[in-house]
Amino acid sequence: MKETKKTGVLPGDKVAISEEFLPGVHTYEASGVIRALRTGSVMRDMKNMEISVKPSAQPELVKVDDWVTGQVEGSQANSANVHIYFHNGKPTFKDFSGMLSLRGLSGGGRGARRTTPVKSGDVVRCRVFSLVNGIIHLNIDEPDMGVVAALCGNCGRPLLKGNETRVKCDECGNVEERKLARDFGTTPIEP
Ligand SMILES: [Zn+2]
Repeated sequence: MKETKKTGVLPGDKVAISEEFLPGVHTYEASGVIRALRTGSVMRDMKNMEISVKPSAQPELVKVDDWVTGQVEGSQANSANVHIYFHNGKPTFKDFSGMLSLRGLSGGGRGARRTTPVKSGDVVRCRVFSLVNGIIHLNIDEPDMGVVAALCGNCGRPLLKGNETRVKCDECGNVEERKLARDFGTTPIEP
């Protein structure tokens, strides 16, 4: 019978002393102390008196205040799903997504015309502001955060320049609303 205790550990953290437990999966013993080899949660097998670490399924590398870059895969009024491809500027090969909060980005207060901070297909750079409930919560409030690449909704060509809230297509003249990152339009894109 296995008992899972919801205790998060990082590699090297003490999980038990060897008088109490035997080292199990993803642990090691050194000088009478059993420590975690992986980030995850501690599992105690009371029958065999073995202690293990169950690696976290969530990408362990993402922390609050990190930044990630990804593609918007769908957006609602107050949030958008972002498929993450870069973490702190480096490619990530894990398959994971974050939830981009769009609250407070819809323009100048109540009654103001609704704007569209992001659209599906946009590439956005986002700040990680919370990891509550295992969800990577993102926002784009800072000047460096926001859309870094987007296509024209009218003609499909890349949009190249804009200001903080609007972007204009060079090809067809279409104007779209976005919350752009400060470096929007520079190439190559900095993830
Ligand atoms: Zn266009």
